[in-house]
Amino acid sequence: MTQLQSPGGAGGDRCPRRTPGRLDFQALTPVAVYVHIPFCPSKCGYCDFNSFAMQGEIVPRTVEATERSIRRSVSAGRPCKTVFFGGGTPTLLPGSDLARLLLAVLDTHPTTDGLEVTTECNPGTVDEAKLSELRAAGFERISLGAQSFQTHDLIQLGRVHSPTQTFEAVRAARRAGFSRLNLDLIFGLPGQSLAAWRQNLVQALELEPNHLSLYCLTIESNTRFCRYWNRGMLDLPDDGAQVEMYDAAVEVCAEAGLRQYEISNFARPGEECRHNLAYWRGEEYEGYGPGAVGCVRTSAAAWPRRRTTRTKHPARFSDEVEAGLEAVCEEEALDELTGSFERVMLGIRLNEGIVADGLSSEGLSEVLRRGWAAVTAGRVALTPAGRHFCNEVAAALA
Ligand code: SF4
Repeated sequence: MTQLQSPGGAGGDRCPRRTPGRLDFQALTPVAVYVHIPFCPSKCGYCDFNSFAMQGEIVPRTVEATERSIRRSVSAGRPCKTVFFGGGTPTLLPGSDLARLLLAVLDTHPTTDGLEVTTECNPGTVDEAKLSELRAAGFERISLGAQSFQTHDLIQLGRVHSPTQTFEAVRAARRAGFSRLNLDLIFGLPGQSLAAWRQNLVQALELEPNHLSLYCLTIESNTRFCRYWNRGMLDLPDDGAQVEMYDAAVEVCAEAGLRQYEISNFARPGEECRHNLAYWRGEEYEGYGPGAVGCVRTSAAAWPRRRTTRTKHPARFSDEVEAGLEAVCEEEALDELTGSFERVMLGIRLNEGIVADGLSSEGLSEVLRRGWAAVTAGRVALTPAGRHFCNEVAAALA
């Protein structure tokens, strides 16, 4: 669970930077707003996100700093069309803290019609009372990190919840008034068979989510799983088995009426995650909280954009905000050419594809010849076979 980022986005914690001047934002296109809550009950074995198993005073201090950072944002006044709370585990915070941060976002960014407000949610950290509080505060979409419905998978992954808690969280979310509900599942888990994965899909669909995010486990450096892998202690499905699991997911979702709209995402028509679509379509976004990434224009012109990464460590982030700084540890000016390149890399993940004009004609011929992409009405999109070669297609086209 974390913010989707443009290629080359996040960097390490370094020096705070100066704040640029404000624009007349009201006339500009709306942005997607992301709020990062960096705390988790414990660190999962596969996780390399900017998350910390911290407790005590640092938690309310970071909430306070995040609220201050939102309210004095250089993007204040810029309208927003989606808000997404991710982490970390946002629902580790009391509902009142999440409500307070959402209010700060809504006070800072005028909203547009059809505002989408999502929070990620760990099933082990919510009950109906907290979910009702979130719904009353304005959250209208929940993304539950189910990951698996097998207890042994969840224990291996280091998750703090049980399958039963996921079932209960879904029921509680519905009673609290959440009709828009996503479940995250991971496949390619240690020791997982195709049959076990299919069973997970069936159990997920029995809960009638209107959105599923299905990711293959990847082994990231500096994680517990990476150390196990290096010692030969992880029995992972091989590439062929992972392909079978992915293809099974596509088939099962299609049968259940969940349309694939991105390589790893499936939704009932109209229930696509509009916040994540903004990233994949190369639109502007602002990020708040430790480690959050933003990418917004700095003048009325669409380019260049200023891409920033907020200071990652909660204590350092809070120190900098308290000192009146912007708490940005890395920034770069993104020019139109680089932006177009990144748009290809991300946009090709979508079923709607990307505009064919301006792509490498040599690369396009090659991916068409291989049957990895097709052109329809001036747009290039992956074929089912091409979804297994997304990076190769993106590299060829860009
Ligand atoms: S819940 Fe686990 S996977 Fe998600 S951010 Fe926290 S530690 Fe990482």
